[in-house]
Amino acid sequence: MESFLPHFEGKETPFYFYDLGLLSDTIAAIKSANRYGYHIHYALKANNNPEILKRIKEAGFGVDCVSGNEVKIGVKNGFQSSHIVLAGVGKTDKEIEIALDADIFSFNVESIAELKVIDELAGKRGKVANISMRINPAIDAGTHHYITTGAKENKFGISGDELFESLQLINELKHIDFIGLHFHIGSQINDLNRFKNLCEKVNELQKALHDTGLSLPHLNVGGGLGINYQDPINDPIPDFEGYFRVFHENLELLPDQELHFELGRSIVGQCGYLVSRTLYVKESPHTNFLILDAGMTELMRPALYQAKHKIVSLSNASLNKVYDVVGPICESSDSFGKAIELPETKRGDFVVICSAGAYGETMKNAYNARDLAKPYYKD
Ligand SMILES: *Cc1c(COP(=O)(O)O)cnc(C)c1O
Repeated sequence: MESFLPHFEGKETPFYFYDLGLLSDTIAAIKSANRYGYHIHYALKANNNPEILKRIKEAGFGVDCVSGNEVKIGVKNGFQSSHIVLAGVGKTDKEIEIALDADIFSFNVESIAELKVIDELAGKRGKVANISMRINPAIDAGTHHYITTGAKENKFGISGDELFESLQLINELKHIDFIGLHFHIGSQINDLNRFKNLCEKVNELQKALHDTGLSLPHLNVGGGLGINYQDPINDPIPDFEGYFRVFHENLELLPDQELHFELGRSIVGQCGYLVSRTLYVKESPHTNFLILDAGMTELMRPALYQAKHKIVSLSNASLNKVYDVVGPICESSDSFGKAIELPETKRGDFVVICSAGAYGETMKNAYNARDLAKPYYKD
């Protein structure tokens, strides 16, 4: 981290700092672990910074979008429409039209009501839209309840039963083509057994569909592979080998069936840092507060999901102290961590929040009428 210091000097804090070398190494690790020819779509909502997208596009990955504007960003950044998919529980007519006009590869459809709207809008354009049904497999992803998406109480997708009840309707709609099934059970999943559970559910469902005479050409198992937030410096690249192997060993693909993944966090999470300076050290009888110039406006995850990120102080003090590390925003949830041991830190010292590459810059906002933090890069 000290080697980054020359890049930090002279820049207005807070800012995002991207190690594009680490991004390239991460992409290379994915490509080498994916010896099965699976298709990788990058979940654009994790980070849509153009410099990052450029490298992801060069890797030959597609994109997974969750809004019409994300489809536009994908197209603008050079992704082929045949490599773009669109998910989202609340797609507006305008968003569906953007995706129809872009001729994306597939809509990941989350309700029967939505299916009818896509059919109608595609019909008006004289098109047939590829659709995959997003199935909620009722699996607990074992992660924070705000980033669990495949348990039965979540708003995402439809149940397997509902799919079977709707097969006739899906068959009757003339402007959609039912090409596949889509799943995404949650995010920041480090227990690979959860993905094994997903494979078992997918196998069951595929068998039942097969019994009705349906064999779909396309399967999409979403994303969700976690990263190491505790020790990002020593463990910067997730276990892609283990991850793909779970699917290779447990998922029963039909002949010629394509398998797609939608990885977000695991691709970009570790290559981004949020760099701040210490504004004040406030010592009280109970707590020493380290007050940074970065806050929840630059990294919302701690306030939103009680997430913990590794905090590094670039102070050169030899003595350690314990701090509550907080941001400047007028919200008590604007805190990066309690009772964090750091080298004694003073006003002006750089403090770096690690693993800010995913769901950092894309969630930035101007609450408290703050300036928006800029991104900087290192190759
Ligand atoms: C957010 C999202 C992803 C990516 O999740 P990660 O945990 O960042 O890998 C993939 N698919 C869908 C549908 C999503 O909404």
